[in-house]
Amino acid sequence: MPALFIGHGSPLQAIQPTPYTAAWQELARVLPRPRAILCISAHWYIRGTSVTAMPVPPTIHDFHGFPPAMYQCRYPAPGDPVLAQQVRELLQPTAVHAEHSEWGLDHGCWSVLTYMYPDAQIPVVQLSIDGTLPPTAHYGFGRRLAPLRDQGVLILGSGDVVHNLRRLQRMSGAPPLDWAARFNDFVRAAILSGDHAALIDYALHPDAALGAPTPEHYLPLLYVLGTQQEGEQATVPVDGIDMGSISMLCARLS
Ligand code: ZN
Repeated sequence: MPALFIGHGSPLQAIQPTPYTAAWQELARVLPRPRAILCISAHWYIRGTSVTAMPVPPTIHDFHGFPPAMYQCRYPAPGDPVLAQQVRELLQPTAVHAEHSEWGLDHGCWSVLTYMYPDAQIPVVQLSIDGTLPPTAHYGFGRRLAPLRDQGVLILGSGDVVHNLRRLQRMSGAPPLDWAARFNDFVRAAILSGDHAALIDYALHPDAALGAPTPEHYLPLLYVLGTQQEGEQATVPVDGIDMGSISMLCARLS
């Protein structure tokens, strides 16, 4: 099974289709249909590693001040408690908490899957990002999770490799800010050349302080790249910068 990182951008895209949402639909159309999806979303960034283990994960509306229609969105995909348990075993000796009630599917997950798999029939499990761990640990988790790809599980990272809400340019058609374009170019080149060391040490890049001022939207990329196999090609099927400072770059393995 291929593995995907999606730059999810504005939550509003869940109800307002864009060229990016059309590109996600097209990605799903050309991919083999997964048996299940393991989603690592920027929006479940906590202390500790948890996995959703409920048979029916609720749709989480983890945003404020959006139009009422956003709060009516539902993504009623089933969970997959067996896959959740498998994730816990693969990540040993890290203790992974089985989450039965506090979380579900957040907008980093469902705003993308709504377009990719609108029938919501494929089971979805979410894995949290432990904000206390360094980038190398997140990459290492990706490596441990890689065997799931052989079992028809789509590993889906959802974030934005450039994500700076303080510098958002709200007028339509705003061009990318210089540092956003440079940091995005660096990430794209390193993905294409397989320079994972540079991507793990992204904070050393001179534009990282503005491009990725907080780690949560960047780190899902490292889970996906951690699953890359020897000799496997990485591609960037979608790219662009929205509102000056949000990267919509997507990465695909095989
Ligand atoms: Zn986000």
